[in-house]
Amino acid sequence: MIGIIFGPPGSGKGTQAARIEKEFRLKHLSTGEILRAEVASGSPIGKEAGRIMAAGDLVPDELIVDIVRGRLPEAETGAGVLLDGFPRTVRQAQALDAMLADEGHTLDFVIALDVPEAELVERLLHRARVEGRADDTRQAIAERMHEYHKLTEAVLDHYSRQGVPVKRVDGLGSPEEVFGRIRRAIGISSV
Ligand code: AMP
Repeated sequence: MIGIIFGPPGSGKGTQAARIEKEFRLKHLSTGEILRAEVASGSPIGKEAGRIMAAGDLVPDELIVDIVRGRLPEAETGAGVLLDGFPRTVRQAQALDAMLADEGHTLDFVIALDVPEAELVERLLHRARVEGRADDTRQAIAERMHEYHKLTEAVLDHYSRQGVPVKRVDGLGSPEEVFGRIRRAIGISSV
């Protein structure tokens, strides 16, 4: 099974991905987490990505596609893969389509979390106080929202046009409530 958890910054992708990973035994692949690990290690990729991430911009498509290409085969050896934070542009989606086609795989589901923007900003500012993530400043949050609307939303149309089941899920409420909705949505897509 190969699925994507999709949504704007602060919509709860990471929280829900951890639950989906456990329940459906999927390997969680978060490009944001991979990049943060690169930044922490001080690698050349981390140095390049760190500046871009702190400003709230997207790292170049080629860089992120290479990272996913390197990680996907290993992740695919288990029951399946849950992609989180990728693809974020139509070019990334096309690259993923080609990677999956090479393996004879197709996407099983896209879960798109819907959360109003005012709530997203509240959540991210709260996370800034609790976790201290470098890109949870007001300015970087505004830029990430801008990038999401400008580049990332179009990925949903890309998949809808291809007939991939895109399930919009209300992301408001407790993590348990949201997960209940996701579980139903994945259950329907996978029968
Ligand atoms: P996330 O943890 O998914 O919110 O990602 C944090 C940051 O990492 C983003 O704001 C981007 O700067 C970068 N990033 C993560 N995934 C991607 C991607 N697929 N394409 C471009 N940039 C990404």
